[in-house]
Amino acid sequence: MINKIVIANRGEIALRIQRACREMGIQNVAVYSEADRDALYVKLADESVCIGPAPANLSYLHIPAILSAAEVTDADAIHPGYGFLSENADFAELVEACGFIFIGPTSANIRLMGDKVSAIRSMHEANVPCVPGSDGVLGIDEETNLSIASKIGYPIIIKASGGGGGRGMRVVRTESALLNAIILTRTEAGATFNNPDIYMEKYLEHPRHVEFQVLSDKHGNAVHLGERDCSMQRRNQKVVEEAPAPGITEEQRNTVGERCAEACRKIGYHGAGTFEFLYENGEFYFIEMNTRVQVEHPVTEMITGIDIVKAQILIAAGEPLPFTQDDIEIKGHAVECRLNAEDPETFMPSPGRITLFHAPGGPGIRVDSHVYSNYFVPTHYDSMIGKLIAHGSNRSEALARMSSALSEVIIDGIRTNIPLHRRIISDHGFKSAEFDIHYLEKNITNTA
Ligand code: ADP
Repeated sequence: MINKIVIANRGEIALRIQRACREMGIQNVAVYSEADRDALYVKLADESVCIGPAPANLSYLHIPAILSAAEVTDADAIHPGYGFLSENADFAELVEACGFIFIGPTSANIRLMGDKVSAIRSMHEANVPCVPGSDGVLGIDEETNLSIASKIGYPIIIKASGGGGGRGMRVVRTESALLNAIILTRTEAGATFNNPDIYMEKYLEHPRHVEFQVLSDKHGNAVHLGERDCSMQRRNQKVVEEAPAPGITEEQRNTVGERCAEACRKIGYHGAGTFEFLYENGEFYFIEMNTRVQVEHPVTEMITGIDIVKAQILIAAGEPLPFTQDDIEIKGHAVECRLNAEDPETFMPSPGRITLFHAPGGPGIRVDSHVYSNYFVPTHYDSMIGKLIAHGSNRSEALARMSSALSEVIIDGIRTNIPLHRRIISDHGFKSAEFDIHYLEKNITNTA
């Protein structure tokens, strides 16, 4: 059993996990940096421990400080949230070695999925559809590499196996540019990710980003909770997400979702996970798996009624999933807008004091945010200050509710991307679901 959880994160996800703990009657411990000392969610926690100064490498990424916090509060488990240490296999391993439960998959599974070449290989073996590409890491033989690329067909994309955050990738459109691009990407990969391994994939010109949510327990049960569309991106960062993905049929959902669930059974995965795909011309192409809770998990919660964070905790405690695939039903449509403290035109971060915060409400509206009037947005972390989620019986009702919520919400004192969200939600192409991953930058922010 789990009686006390240390929440090794900050901001809205720390509050989200705290709420799940409270609902389950589990004691929660907030850890905080000096910059987050006065945050309300820290005060609302059952216990709280300061883990260091503001810079993340001295606090939220400082493993000994987090393990000590678990030790001194006599906690049983650690929830890593997203970002920070959530996909750090060494951290997961240390948590378990110190006798705590890591709320997430095994360190071996995190490691497997953190290396993109090994992730793709195991997905191939599980019959999950992948992007046509080099079978494994590229060697140094130039003739072989030229022949692999011409077999795949240009344009191709060279990617770092250890890459992340949208970095370490290079598109090559002609054969004459290939060999130089390989050398450059390999050198950059070695310098940035401490791993020079690179691989090659077909570059898809106009895909959508569609991802599947899975839950898998320690008893070999795995289910999928359908898919989300996260095509509205800027610089590979998701801005608006929705579920289900427009235009995906029930048959596609069941087929691809079941392959993802089967892949989880095959690798002995446990916890929540997301299989990310590019979707083009009716086909799915696996790109990577995220072995943690996602920022956009609420849209799936709204359409399935399943609490993903509670499920993570139950799974970590060794409980079997309390439902089967047949019990999972998709009801209506949900959309999420990520609220960022940033200029809506230049996208420059805009930290500072929020002088007035007024949350929207009404049927189907959910606000996941740790901010309040007089909250100070620190300069040290990600600019996301919350998420607005709208659920409706269908897509147009969900969008109408989001539009209403965006007209109600007030965040004064700092600049936010709310004006951008208003433009997206009222955009004709978005409303008619005619978009790809480049749409936002090309048609709305004009920053392509
Ligand atoms: P990261 O781990 O850095 O997020 P991903 O493999 O998830 O890397 O890719 C990030 C983004 O790069 C994708 O969402 C997509 O926009 C683009 N991308 C990656 N692979 C391809 C591809 N084969 N074709 C077209 N775009 C791609």
